[in-house]
Amino acid sequence: MLYHNPYDACQDSPVFDFWPGISVCYIVMIDLHMHTLLSDGVLLPSELIQRAYSMGYRALALTDHVDMSNIDFVIPRIVNVIREISEFTTLTVIPGAEITHVPPKLIPIMVKRARDLGAKIVVVHGETLAEPVAAGTNRAGIEAGADIISHPGLISPEDVMLAKERGVALEITARKGHSISNGHLAKIALETGALLVINTDSHAPEDLITLERARMILRASGITEKNTDHIIANSEKLIYKIGRN
Ligand SMILES: [Zn+2]
Ligand SMILES: [Zn+2]
Repeated sequence: MLYHNPYDACQDSPVFDFWPGISVCYIVMIDLHMHTLLSDGVLLPSELIQRAYSMGYRALALTDHVDMSNIDFVIPRIVNVIREISEFTTLTVIPGAEITHVPPKLIPIMVKRARDLGAKIVVVHGETLAEPVAAGTNRAGIEAGADIISHPGLISPEDVMLAKERGVALEITARKGHSISNGHLAKIALETGALLVINTDSHAPEDLITLERARMILRASGITEKNTDHIIANSEKLIYKIGRN
């Protein structure tokens, strides 16, 4: 399935060459880490999608928290609601999951299980300083081939390098608490050339942000204006990649 709609969404936004022969607009709001009431968010998927649309989002991923207890409950429901709703929205909505507080040794099997159940964006809940996440979670998520390590806290340069080599995206987060280590991540990722994305980790309507706010958060993490555009473009690139698989 090809999710991306190269020109319709562009309007007055700049267009640039993404991959050979493919030009897309990149100045669009994309959020690949969002929660609904299928885990600890407060909105139905349908309402979250509608609210994101009205905020100017062009694409989002529903990535509710999962562990061994609920993965087979949550992901099929996300897949179903997206299947039924996609015909009636211009938003690209991607089924996903966030593997959360799972012991590192179990992360590989959970990443595989999530994909088998239909998750196209697999996030591993990284070692945020706001929660007591098990040490080794960032590394396990990268080695397991997750698409994104969310809020990876004081991630080591070695893990950032490994993420770069494996093509795993690392998350700059808009979320309070998780965001205190954004500057640390931005610095190492820019030095190594690792892939960064920005997400909100939304749980409630007030967590949704505009594109301008996303830019501001990136700038506040020590990222230059030029790199800001590239980081926003990375989410689109990720969507394009999964759409082709
Ligand atoms: Zn949560
Ligand atoms: Zn989350």
